[in-house]
Amino acid sequence: MQTHPTGDEPIVQPRVDIDPHSKLNILGLDRETLKAALADIGVPDKALNMRTKQIWGWLYHRGVSDFAAMHNISKDIKALLAEHFLIKRPEISEAQYSEDGTRKYLIKFADGNEAEAVYIPDEDRGTLCISSQVGCTLNCKFCHTGTMRLVRNLTAAEIVAQLLVARDDLGEWDDPTLGRRITNIVMMGMGEPLYNFDNVKKALEIMMDPEGIQMSRRRITLSTSGVVPHMERCGKEIGVNLAVSLHAVRDDVRSDIMPINKKYGLHEVLRACANYPGAHNARRITFEYVMLKGINDSDDDARELVRLLKQYDLPAKVNLIPFNPWPGVNYECSSWKQIKRFSDIVYGGGISAPIRTPRGRDIMAACGQLKSASEKVSKADARRALAASTGLVA
Ligand code: SAH
Ligand code: SF4
Repeated sequence: MQTHPTGDEPIVQPRVDIDPHSKLNILGLDRETLKAALADIGVPDKALNMRTKQIWGWLYHRGVSDFAAMHNISKDIKALLAEHFLIKRPEISEAQYSEDGTRKYLIKFADGNEAEAVYIPDEDRGTLCISSQVGCTLNCKFCHTGTMRLVRNLTAAEIVAQLLVARDDLGEWDDPTLGRRITNIVMMGMGEPLYNFDNVKKALEIMMDPEGIQMSRRRITLSTSGVVPHMERCGKEIGVNLAVSLHAVRDDVRSDIMPINKKYGLHEVLRACANYPGAHNARRITFEYVMLKGINDSDDDARELVRLLKQYDLPAKVNLIPFNPWPGVNYECSSWKQIKRFSDIVYGGGISAPIRTPRGRDIMAACGQLKSASEKVSKADARRALAASTGLVA
């Protein structure tokens, strides 16, 4: 049952992050806004560029959380900064460590809402999976996040903060000579990133800034369920790698498991992929395909997948995701034998189709298993709202 609206535009507008003492949180502002904020508190015009650069470096290159640590900034300016601004990270309300090294962070934002980020270490890389929304409006039937009733967009600051707190937990700021533990970012956590385009764009720009965190755009992947009107903008304006949740090769099946397909059908999505700016062989689009027993996993489905990707002449890679179950779900994961057959057929058609190893299943950190307790807040709010409107006590 659809419990909340589905639309192209954000549902809840992000708040300005000002604490009760009306200090502005300096974390998560883009450079221009930071510069303007510094001008507002009286940093002289001629020093603005330099100060912005210095502060930016301290915040994002060194990860400091105290103005006092900004050694190359004069005492007066530091005092001014501390008087007007905060460096405030959200708290990690729970960190769970899987036996396979995966770490799941439940992150609590200023308004009490929570979202999850997941760190996945591999031999040659460390990937941080980041959320773009609390919950998701899209209700894909196989996805735990889609069952959350409360949905709100995360601000750019809240999106960047997920990376900052993960780096804190991993001790990544301490010794720059140790090398990075987080080398890759995937926007594959809770929420549909293209329904929160502006904040996601701002956050990724902060992460890619050459004087700050310096993530390369080639190491960032944004996953969308196929929000066609924003796909081209994503390539043009953000320029990161694209992953598309395809999950079915026929409109009827896709519409059943992913309601967004009724709005943007399979062929429309594939056309948008063919037009994705920067898509070529060196930079293929990843098609995610969740393996659901008896739903989308037949040999014919595999052959049709190859045909479709060829029909649209797509520089593609298919990522087969074994379905990760969660309490109350009605689907089963395809058998290992069938996943392997499916993969072989797609490979046989000349398209690479690795099977994604599920990570962090023991802590419910795998794809599609994320769901925070924020809906409890929403139910309580709903009860209060009902009580207020009926005059009954909640
Ligand atoms: N909303 C975006 C990004 C987040 S989901 C999107 O849908 O693309 C990241 C990937 O996990 C998507 O491909 C999603 O379809 C997949 N997924 C969701 N639930 C899953 C589950 N239970 N098991 C395996 N993959 C799942
Ligand atoms: Fe939302 Fe993606 Fe989950 Fe679908 S799979 S409900 S789009 S988070």
